[in-house]
Amino acid sequence: MDAVSAATALVSELSKVVTSERVITSPEGLKPWQNDQWWYAIAAAAAGRPISKPDVVVRPTTPEEVAEIVKIANKAGVPITPWGGGSGVQGAANADRGGIVIDLKLLNRVRHIDQKSLTCTVEAGKVCKEFEAELNAQDLSFTHYPASTEWATIGGSIGARGSGVLSSKYGKIEDHILSLEFVTPTGDLVHTPAVPRHAAGPELTQLLVGAEGVFGIVTAAIVKLRRLPKHRAFGVYSFKTLGEGLEAGREIMTSGLRPAVLRYYDAEAASHSLARAVDYKLPDATMVLMFDGEYPDLVDMEAQTTFAVCHKYGGQVLPARLAKTWWDNRYVFYYPPYAPELPSIWGTVDVVADFEHIEAVYYETTKAIRAVVPARFELSLNTHFSHWYEWGSMIYSRMKIPVGPEDLDEAKELHDVIFRAGVEAAMKAGAVLNDHHGVGIRLAPYMQAQYGTGMEALRSIKRALDPNNVLCPGKLGM
Ligand SMILES: Cc1cc2nc3c(=O)[nH]c(=O)nc-3n(C[C@H](O)[C@H](O)[C@H](O)COP(=O)(O)OP(=O)(O)OC[C@H]3O[C@@H](n4cnc5c(N)ncnc54)[C@H](O)[C@@H]3O)c2cc1C
Repeated sequence: MDAVSAATALVSELSKVVTSERVITSPEGLKPWQNDQWWYAIAAAAAGRPISKPDVVVRPTTPEEVAEIVKIANKAGVPITPWGGGSGVQGAANADRGGIVIDLKLLNRVRHIDQKSLTCTVEAGKVCKEFEAELNAQDLSFTHYPASTEWATIGGSIGARGSGVLSSKYGKIEDHILSLEFVTPTGDLVHTPAVPRHAAGPELTQLLVGAEGVFGIVTAAIVKLRRLPKHRAFGVYSFKTLGEGLEAGREIMTSGLRPAVLRYYDAEAASHSLARAVDYKLPDATMVLMFDGEYPDLVDMEAQTTFAVCHKYGGQVLPARLAKTWWDNRYVFYYPPYAPELPSIWGTVDVVADFEHIEAVYYETTKAIRAVVPARFELSLNTHFSHWYEWGSMIYSRMKIPVGPEDLDEAKELHDVIFRAGVEAAMKAGAVLNDHHGVGIRLAPYMQAQYGTGMEALRSIKRALDPNNVLCPGKLGM
């Protein structure tokens, strides 16, 4: 069969599964799926050379439809790529090998809320912000608040192993998930055990978390809920040296204190981005803290105990209202008119390390990035530490070049040089490749270095689950 007849046959098969308006093939109709939010995907699409080139986008509304579509992809031998909100910043959702994009946003029902266990079965295409709004109306919360909440879906958050601003207390997405419903790469519908704390073999649920669609398409999840907090307390501290604040953060987390928000900005990030967000001069490294919970006395006591730790490490108290202002405006700076736009080049090196390595990772990464950018490009580099664990923290270095080279290839070369320098320096200093944005196309070349011989174990799982290699081929460095 020639290519045109094969494409026609594929569309005809897909149209038997979903209604024809949910099978999109026109060049104009396919535009919303030509790039995610990775800088290069945006720049390439703007230059008329999109890296995402789906032949067809299909929009199922049930898990059974997803399973049928995956079977069709296997029969036709075409790649299939899941798409949630398309807000990923590593290029993961781009259909760089063409084929089918399966857009899951119409699979978006809240199926069941268990008020007794405080759990919820929600479909993968549900957008985080809409989910949270529905829950809040019932005095409940999902507590997963990514800055991309307006776009990111539950499935995409699971795919990218995402995180939100409350993660230091409530955890990353992998901590919110109890169980998954997913479609395997050959089209079987699977339900994992209902709860994650069991000894019925390994935790299959977690194989899908962070898999970026490579091992299956998530169609629904059972997630933890919390009641909306009845009380919040805020605090802000500045530190003369970066190390003092890191030490305060380490003691807070290792002593069992749990701020819902613990964001520590280096002096550059504090004086540029945070200062703008809260409209206050912040020349030094600055820590923003928020505590929440059901019991006001407990919340206030936890806040006061944490503030004492900040004092102990030289923290200077700043007006607490700044933290409240940050909280109220926490999403504003990720959207127009504040979000960066072409011809800028922007991106993050966001890695994670334990407390033993955290300071070295910070200094080595920022030094390496600064060293490779010629002064004429006026690099800005702001770093913050905003997802903390009992053993370490995320280190998030955000770079921006106000005006990059006009030529797309030259601009990409500059982006890649900066990014390579940062990632390689971070890994050498003891960091793990990524904290919450995932791997995508951007980090795929580093997966072998990250996993070593473990990479072959991941590839073996992929081969076993996906013998026809249809689900996101080439992604995750497979
Ligand atoms: C302004 C901005 C702010 C951001 N802030 C944050 C933040 O605070 N925290 C954070 O974690 N991230 C953040 N991100 C990154 C991004 O929003 C997250 O990676 C998010 O989890 C992606 O969700 P999505 O639905 O848009 O997924 P997509 O970008 O559509 O897809 C991401 C990956 O998941 C796969 N996928 C999608 N749906 C499914 C499914 N149902 N089953 C299996 N695989 C699937 C895709 O194939 C792809 O590999 C931000 C991005 C932007 C642009």
